[in-house]
This record gives sequence, C-alpha cells and structure tokens, in this order.
Amino acid sequence: MSGSSQRETTQLAASVLSAAAFGLMSAGCGLERANGIAMGTTYSIQADCPKSLPHVRVDAELARIDALMSTYDRDSELSRFNRGATGVALPVSPELVDVVGAAFVVSEQTRGAFDATVAPLVALWGFGADAAPGAPGDKEVAQALRSVDYRRIAHNREPPTLEKLRPATLDLSGIAKGFAVDRLAGLLDDARCPAYLIEFGGEIKARASAPGGGPWRVGVESPSGPDYAKTLLLGTDALATSGDYRQYRETDGVRVSHVIDPRTGYPVRHHLASVTVVTDTAMMADAYATAMLVMGEVEARRFAGEMDLAALFIVRANGGFEMFHSQAMVPYLERG
Ligand code: ADP
Ligand code: MG
Repeated sequence: MSGSSQRETTQLAASVLSAAAFGLMSAGCGLERANGIAMGTTYSIQADCPKSLPHVRVDAELARIDALMSTYDRDSELSRFNRGATGVALPVSPELVDVVGAAFVVSEQTRGAFDATVAPLVALWGFGADAAPGAPGDKEVAQALRSVDYRRIAHNREPPTLEKLRPATLDLSGIAKGFAVDRLAGLLDDARCPAYLIEFGGEIKARASAPGGGPWRVGVESPSGPDYAKTLLLGTDALATSGDYRQYRETDGVRVSHVIDPRTGYPVRHHLASVTVVTDTAMMADAYATAMLVMGEVEARRFAGEMDLAALFIVRANGGFEMFHSQAMVPYLERG
C-alpha cells in the first residue's frame, strides 16, 4: 500500500450510463413517472398503466432483491452464503440460484471474463462492501486470484441450494441490477401496462406495444461529457452499459476500474471505454456488458460477432473516442 494520497473519485451511486431515455409515445399519452433510490443507486420508471403505477410494489420488490443479493447487507442470503462453511449445501431462495446460474452460464460463454467469484479481487482493489485501502501488491493479487473460479460453487435448483465446493466468495453486482430491472418489468407486465421504460443504475428494460407508440429513444452516454454518443431505439428490449469512466478510483494518479479481469486479477486497463448491449433480458445484458468490458475491444468485438449479440463499443482513440457496433446492433441504431 502506498502512503500517497488516494482519492475516491466516483464511488457514488447513479451510474446512469444510458438513461436519457425518452421519446416515443405521442404527447398526451399520459405516461406516469416514478423515481427512487435502491441498492445504492437510482431508478426511474415511465409507464402507461391502466390503473396507477404500482409504486409501493416497486419499492418492496427492490428491497426484497436487496435482501437476497446485497453484499452490503450482512444479513442478505448472499452474505450468509459468503460467510458459510465449505462443503455444506445452503438452502437459499430460488431466485438467488437463478441469478447465480445465469452468472455461471455467462462465465462459461466468456471463458471466465465474467466471474461472480471475483469478490476477493474487488475488495482487494478497493471496491464494494469490504473494500481494502490502498493498492495491493502482486503477491496479494496472486493470493486472491487462487479462490476466483466459478467452478468452486455448485448451484442446485431442486431444492434451491448453493454450495462452496472449495472456499469462494460471490459478488453479484455485475448482474443483480439487471435481474432487478427484469423483475420490475414483470411487475408492470402483471399490472398490464402496455408500455414502459424502466431504468435502474444504467440498466434498462422497455416495453412498447401501445397504439401509436414508436420505439423508446435511449441515449448512450459519451464518456467525455454530458452529451450522448449515440441514440438507440428500443421496443420490447433490454439494454445495459458497462463503462470504465463512472466508477473508479485514483491511486497515484492511476485510474483503477471497478471491473476486474478474473483471469489476471487486475482491473481492466485498455482502450475500451464502454460497452452497451441490447438483448431480451436486462440480467443477461448486464452480465454481457461487464464481460465485454473485461475482454477489451478486440476480444469483445469477436465475441459479439460469434454470439450474434447487439453491442455498441466506445473506444478511446487519438485523444477522442471512436464507436463500433456489431451487426446485430444495426436495427437499434437511430439513423441520421
Ligand atoms: P455497474 O455497477 O457500473 O453497472 P457492472 O455491471 O459492470 O457495473 O458491474 C461491476 C461490478 O461487478 C463491480 O463493481 C464488481 O462488484 C463486479 N465485478 C467486477 N469485475 C467483474 C467480473 N469480471 N465479473 C463479474 N463481476 C465483476
Ligand atoms: Mg454488469
């Protein structure tokens, strides 16, 4: 650990990376709005609902998910699992198993670029609920890296349990917000709202089937400023952005990203500034966006092509930014 000054730069909430969501639906359509704070970040909802927007149920649902998956809440199911013994199958909620299962699928698909057992590294690099102070040495990184491997954990659906096969710690921050957005979408579907746009900490789920309704317009933030780098058009789609410029800290003037490469143990440092993914569920979009940020430009562009994933990449180049997108992103790009 260096004795030099260390600044927490933007650990604050609201990674509203892609939230300039608006447009659509002719004026006077009577969209209701709801805003709030949950899980250390903000949410905003615009919805056209036959009755009123179920505000109370939205807050209750987010609180419920937090109580399952938060690492800041020491009593959450996830925290209890993390503290628990190795070799014991702990009964947990089916939803926790679903999210862990989805995280592990993405780990396999990305050959470990996304790995929810990255927790010890996240803490070591100064992020999350158990953030260590200062920058770690190579030995500490190597030591922490030894317990990072999603195959150390077994998950079972019937009955729902999680088991550490070998010591490991889970951090679902790279996927849980997306899951929460999908759950809120489920609430609005149940309330028969024909159109809505939900944004929670930069993850988005939209639905649009109202008569006269066009697509939602969602701005993808430019890493350099308040303007939008690109506008995407969403119908019934989900979107997530992962960027290296919102949440990071600075140590000795070096920017340390909160996204860590579980294959090396070090925070990502390359020219890829952000990745935006559009797919069916916010949960998968969230995980893929994080995974591709880890991969870096070359590997991520290849991955998006192979997986036929709609992805938009903003890359630092020559003091500015360049944008690239995969073939599958084409239908979502606003023309002009
Ligand atoms: P944001 O919270 O800004 O939307 P992400 O969805 O990209 O960002 O998630 C980043 C968080 O996920 C980190 O703060 C950390 O807790 C966790 N994380 C970091 N690196 C990885 C990784 N390689 N795989 C899975 N989770 C990660
Ligand atoms: Mg993510």
